[in-house]
Amino acid sequence: MAIERTFSMIKPDATKRNLTGKITAKLEEAGLRVIASKRVWMSRAQAEGFYAVHKDRPFFGELVETMTAGPTVVQVLEGENAILKNREVMGATNPANAAEGTIRKEFALSIGENSAHGSDAPETAAQEIAYWFSGVELVG
Ligand code: ADP
Ligand code: MG
Repeated sequence: MAIERTFSMIKPDATKRNLTGKITAKLEEAGLRVIASKRVWMSRAQAEGFYAVHKDRPFFGELVETMTAGPTVVQVLEGENAILKNREVMGATNPANAAEGTIRKEFALSIGENSAHGSDAPETAAQEIAYWFSGVELVG
C-alpha cells in the first residue's frame, strides 16, 4: 500500500471545546502520523479561498462564518492510504450519518459545525497542503 499525505483540520467548534488532543489521538490511533501542525485563526479571505470549490453552494456563507469564528488546527497527516483512512476516522459529513467511533459521531455538533476536515482525493490533498504549509514545514 502507498504511503500518502493528506490535509486535516480541527475546526473552530472543536478547538473551542478543547478537543484538539482527543481528535488528534483518534488520527494517531488509526496509524496516521502528524508531520506538520499549526494553529491559525483564518481570515475571511483565507476561508473563502480554501473552500472556493463550494462558493456557489447555499451553505457557503455559513461555512465561512463558522471557519472564521475561532482558531483552527491545520495538520498534515502521513501514513498508508492516509487520504481514505482520514476520511474513515472522520466519518460522514452529517454527524447523524457518521459511524460509531468516528470523530464526527463523537464530537460534531451539526452538519456545519462538524469538528474536522479531511481531503477527499490526492489532487485536493496536495492543493490543500500547499495552501497552508511550505515544504520545509513538513517533517516526516
Ligand atoms: P466534507 O467536509 O465531509 O468533505 P463537503 O466537502 O461536502 O464535506 O463540505 C465541506 C463542509 O461544508 C462540511 O464539512 C460542512 O462543514 C459544510 N457543509 C456541507 N454541507 C453542508 C450543509 N448542508 N449545511 C451546512 N454546512 C454544510
Ligand atoms: Mg470536502
